[in-house]
Amino acid sequence: MGGSTTIPPHLLDAQPMALESLPESFYADLLSDVAKSRRPSPIRSLFPLENTPGILSLLAGKPNPTSFPFTGLTFTARPPPNANGELALEDNAISLPSADLQAALQYGPTAGLPALIEWLYELQQVVHGRGKGEGWSLMIGNGSQDLLSKAVVALFNPGDTVLVQSPVYAGVIPVFQSAKCDQIEVETDADGVSTDALRSILENWLNNKKKPRVLYTIPYGGNPTGATTTVERRREVLALAREHDFIILEDDPYHYLYFGPAESRPPSYFALECSGGHPVGRVLRMDSVSKVLSAGLRIGFASGPTPLLRAIEAHTGITNLQPPGITQAILLALLTSREWGHAGFLRHVSQVSDFYKAKRDVFEAALRRHLGDVVEWSTPQSGLFFWFRLRQEDDSEAFVRTKAFERGVLALPGSVFLPDGRKTGYVRAAFSLLGEEEVDEALRRLALAVRDAAVS
Ligand code: PMP
Repeated sequence: MGGSTTIPPHLLDAQPMALESLPESFYADLLSDVAKSRRPSPIRSLFPLENTPGILSLLAGKPNPTSFPFTGLTFTARPPPNANGELALEDNAISLPSADLQAALQYGPTAGLPALIEWLYELQQVVHGRGKGEGWSLMIGNGSQDLLSKAVVALFNPGDTVLVQSPVYAGVIPVFQSAKCDQIEVETDADGVSTDALRSILENWLNNKKKPRVLYTIPYGGNPTGATTTVERRREVLALAREHDFIILEDDPYHYLYFGPAESRPPSYFALECSGGHPVGRVLRMDSVSKVLSAGLRIGFASGPTPLLRAIEAHTGITNLQPPGITQAILLALLTSREWGHAGFLRHVSQVSDFYKAKRDVFEAALRRHLGDVVEWSTPQSGLFFWFRLRQEDDSEAFVRTKAFERGVLALPGSVFLPDGRKTGYVRAAFSLLGEEEVDEALRRLALAVRDAAVS
């Protein structure tokens, strides 16, 4: 079984302890003007009162559920393929309890389905050692992208700066751009965020410029590089966060796709901030079910300081109102079904991780075979991507769009992962989808394209 199963070793001897949180004033200072000006939705904030015993509610414009045409929902579930890609033969039928289906069809709470939130609180306790009620909150969003983009609106005024690990997830660059904040690139290497680079940026910060209050980082399987930040680096990043007073926006959709042995799995920033006796509340963590259960469910969840989550929730209250009820109910039914529970979830993600690890190895063998003498790479420790440099190219964009495409292979030029869009010889290739023969063919074609480029 792979690296990410059962209770992580750093939690095995963890003692429950009273944690001190950063004061509310810390977040009042951190929130953007937009976030400070938001008020909870006047209707949605009264929803909880509808549960008062004996109350007759004339409150919300909820449609009458008897007019909804859906009366039952049954789906079938199966375990992930094994490392050889073989699928289980039998499916397991799961039916949504009628009351859960009815609740899912109606408008629901802005932060998400309460029973699913409870399940996720328990998951965070098992995986990160953070207990419910210890000064942090959890909410669900339409994928982590939804929560991330709302967190950015809550944290930045135009002209603010954000520290961004670089290269970085291409989908977050325009989020920071649309908040009109200045992205300061913090370089990364095979061990994740470079703490030397981070320290140097912070120590050389000009006095007349407002210091960055947020570091955006992808701790496992950094998209695009596949790098996982080591525990030593994580400790240093946290120490720098305390010294220079910024928070860590931990975007972790690849958490459960860690390929290393369980004993060397680094703890998340969300877990790590609890050690050392410092006040907690410096980490806003984003999780996603996209890579391990389904991307189309559109479910992610944020865990972190309550004032920040309140700001994100207020944003949801005026935009998409809530995460989708039906997909939350389907997820809850799966997670609470007989075969699952928290142990079943951890077993599932561990098997998914084994499946991708085998794919990584197949891809790396083909990379070595076809392109070993013309590209450089570091083996990804988690995630879905290889990030490699074409030795002969300074600009992979032209190569990918013309030479590689003409040979019949698609990959992403590295420049899309750089906040300033500068040229680079790097390419990102996803190893998640193709089978062994297709990978071999794709990389054979890429090698031909490299040869074409060399002679033209
Ligand atoms: N963050 C990172 C680093 C990602 O790679 C992705 C998806 N590619 C997301 C966030 C968005 O994921 P979700 O499907 O949960 O919105």
